[in-house]
Amino acid sequence: MIRLNLTTLAHAKPGFRQTVKIKLGAAEIGELSVACLRGELKFTRMADDILVEGALYAEVETTCARCLAEFVASLEIRLADEITLPGAELTPEHPVRVENGWVDLTPLLLQYIRLELPSNPICSPNCQGLCPHCGQNLNHGECDCAEEASEEAAIDPRWQALRQL
Ligand SMILES: [Zn+2]
Ligand SMILES: [Zn+2]
Repeated sequence: MIRLNLTTLAHAKPGFRQTVKIKLGAAEIGELSVACLRGELKFTRMADDILVEGALYAEVETTCARCLAEFVASLEIRLADEITLPGAELTPEHPVRVENGWVDLTPLLLQYIRLELPSNPICSPNCQGLCPHCGQNLNHGECDCAEEASEEAAIDPRWQALRQL
């Protein structure tokens, strides 16, 4: 849960601004394991809601699509959204509302982080992936499959017939 107290903003006149520093260590946000989340969010009181803007840096644990190893992906998140005021309806577009002066930013941040996460994350541009034969992670060294395959290819079946003569 990423809860902020927005009491002042909720009661302020339109145009009032407030900046909040975000600094979060390892945390579970929804289904994501976040290693770190930091940055600055600027809140502006509008006539009917609160505007939130800012840039956040996030490190999220994910799985490499090539070698299936767990690694931490670094993401830059640009955020611009509205937070609704007490009594307003929650919608998928506006999943966050001030309640008793507090707001839980979790659903909003989750949306933005999910958007930035690549659908096929790769641990490194040089990731060698897994051997299709034995399943070894080739980033940890070569397996024996490559050698065996080349030996087989070297002996042409036609030569094998000649050998028998
Ligand atoms: Zn990988
Ligand atoms: Zn192999």
